[in-house]
Amino acid sequence: MDEHYEKATMQLMKGEDGEGEVQGVGEGEVEGEVEVEQLSPAAPPASLSPDILLTVRRETSKTSVNVRNRSKSRSKPGVRDTNAHARHGSGPAVHTPTDRGPEKANLQSPGSDQTLQLKGTEKVLQGKTQTNGNAEQLKLGKAAHEKEEGNKVVKKRRSITVDTSKAKTSLEALKLSIKQLKWKEFPVGRRTACDIYWHGVSFHDNENIVSGQVNKFPGMIEMLRKINLSRAVRTMQGLFPEEYNFYPRSWILPEEIQHFCAQIRLLKEKEPTLKPTFIVKPDGGSQGDGIYLIRDPADLRVLSGSQVKQAVVQEYIQKPLLIDKLKFDIRLYVLVRSLEPLEIYIAKEGLSRFCTEPYQEPSQKNLSHVFMHLTNYSLNIHSGNFVHSDSCSTGSKRTFSSVLYRMASKGVDIKKVWSDIIALVIKTVIALVPELKVYYQADIPPGKPGPSCFQILGFDILLMKNLKPVLLEVNANPSMRIEHEQEVSPGVFEYVPSPVDEEVKVSVIRDTLRLMDPAHRKPHISNLLGRAPEEAVLVEAVLDEKAELAESLPSLSLKQVFPKYMKQFNYLRVVERIADIFLRFIGVKGTMKLGPTSFRTFIRNCKLSNSSFTMASVDILYIDITRRWAGIGSDSREAGMCLQAFVEAFIHLAARRFRALPLREQVLSLLELCETALEGQAHEEKPRPQKLHPNINPAPALAAAPSKLSAPQALRPSAKGNAGTQRELQRCFQSAPSKAG
Ligand code: ADP
Repeated sequence: MDEHYEKATMQLMKGEDGEGEVQGVGEGEVEGEVEVEQLSPAAPPASLSPDILLTVRRETSKTSVNVRNRSKSRSKPGVRDTNAHARHGSGPAVHTPTDRGPEKANLQSPGSDQTLQLKGTEKVLQGKTQTNGNAEQLKLGKAAHEKEEGNKVVKKRRSITVDTSKAKTSLEALKLSIKQLKWKEFPVGRRTACDIYWHGVSFHDNENIVSGQVNKFPGMIEMLRKINLSRAVRTMQGLFPEEYNFYPRSWILPEEIQHFCAQIRLLKEKEPTLKPTFIVKPDGGSQGDGIYLIRDPADLRVLSGSQVKQAVVQEYIQKPLLIDKLKFDIRLYVLVRSLEPLEIYIAKEGLSRFCTEPYQEPSQKNLSHVFMHLTNYSLNIHSGNFVHSDSCSTGSKRTFSSVLYRMASKGVDIKKVWSDIIALVIKTVIALVPELKVYYQADIPPGKPGPSCFQILGFDILLMKNLKPVLLEVNANPSMRIEHEQEVSPGVFEYVPSPVDEEVKVSVIRDTLRLMDPAHRKPHISNLLGRAPEEAVLVEAVLDEKAELAESLPSLSLKQVFPKYMKQFNYLRVVERIADIFLRFIGVKGTMKLGPTSFRTFIRNCKLSNSSFTMASVDILYIDITRRWAGIGSDSREAGMCLQAFVEAFIHLAARRFRALPLREQVLSLLELCETALEGQAHEEKPRPQKLHPNINPAPALAAAPSKLSAPQALRPSAKGNAGTQRELQRCFQSAPSKAG
């Protein structure tokens, strides 16, 4: 074994245990020093990977058993077998959740329903039976039925049902996941309600769902279009410039074209040697479609036919980290499990997609070389240099852990890289939440029946040469395909299994389902306390059953990062607090915009008008801002003030009222003022039932909303500042991954 690998692994393991840091890698040494291009091409065996990543890989391999045995209509004969052998050795001696021995096997019914022999409960229940001479029927929620068999109480739990009729390209990975969980699939839908609806594209793929859970949030696609994402992040950059510097400087076209040209001209005048490059991305584009690089604003292609093109022009990151001289990016899967309370999970394993032409810094000559500058799989697959590999650590698509391993073996502090990535993800989701809440309320108004939502997002991240992660984009519908196109003979393409995709994506879907299991959440202790002792025993038995099922599956490959790191990030949720005020005044079902009367009511209720700011000025402010946003907003069907316009108005009001303060303090001061006024009013009014959204995830009330009342200490950035947060996050992360799940 390579001595260097051995040393790196031991150092990492030590760090993982929380007993020490990776030795000998100072931050100064890392920044700008790492030449990962020089790494040896041979990747280490998986068993030498860092602990967190190693766990994931071993477990996912174990669970891909069912996958390998299935028949593949489109794949070339024999391909699957070859892959299986390459990955798991030659024999079929792989353990499935059900072949762990007889004691486990009898916990499963022959069908997909699961039965449970209550463990450790016989004493209590037997006693009852002897006393009463009868079986005691105990109800435990709709999902549980039990019957007495001799002295044992056998409890039968209904299978979790999943409607997969709209799953589209994620269907195959979804089917495998459902099979591993022994849940029940409804491939053509079902007349009665399912527990989970898996949609391939949007929340609206199935209409009229009134219960259960849907794997898409309303509005997510819209929010993640390039322009809207840029706007949301830029609003946060205005308030927290340092915290949000992971997103490249961007301009929105066509509305900011003059501004962009003027800024570049100024920059070039100031520093004539500077040769910045920009990347232009069409608003609704994906898979690299329509993307091009420019060095001069005059090269912008703003018109498409007679139409003005909506696009984002962005500073191009000229010095990415390279491996084998190639540029690569990272696809990370992030689960937003709930908006309120906010719950975010990150998949411990991701994908790295490599370019297929050696990287050179942009020059006029190479600007059009897409295989050098764009990491999109969909583009590079068409390069003659694309390398398909059965191994997860070589080829043009690899696991992120194998890339991290190579970095670690060169002394890179990969824990710092991970914690920076976690921070980037949490901050990005925080930027999206305010608008998502508006969409949510419009589609699923409080008090009306409706499903609750969760969603897997695909974060595309680039590592700079100095290891700083940069957010490129977030995909609302990341590809969950576990096959890839391959040219099997000249001009003939076929879908063949892709081991690396399967390893990563099946775990992500399966573990998302596990986290969304309606019976997953432990009943609160207070609920247990209210029950008769024997009922409480049964509740515990259900938990036992869950625990046993969980034991037969690998530990979760998704790691919770929020509310886990809530303390470090809650202070950023300022726009969300503004959105909460907006939502309070918006009222009616289906509305996403505030009318002039509601805006006036907001001003009045928050006591914001006075002799120097009359209601007439309020109306003028409303008209000015609303008209401007109506001109640039993508959705101008509905009249009124959108959230972004309201946020602008709020910032304007804050600046008027608290002139002497810096911007962020102005906004926070106005927020406190408004929240106090509204709170006072709520007390004066008749006590109303608490405005709890029926779709709020019934998770434990850990993740308090970022209100003034719930987290006064979190209103302002901590005195420790960013470095403190960073250290704290790193510390948390060191001890977390191996325990996660
Ligand atoms: P799409 O949705 O079309 O894939 P992306 O924003 O992901 O659009 O960009 C496509 C590719 O272009 C990325 O995968 C990345 O390789 C490259 N890229 C995008 N933005 C930048 C940037 N600011 N600097 C350097 N490379 C970038």
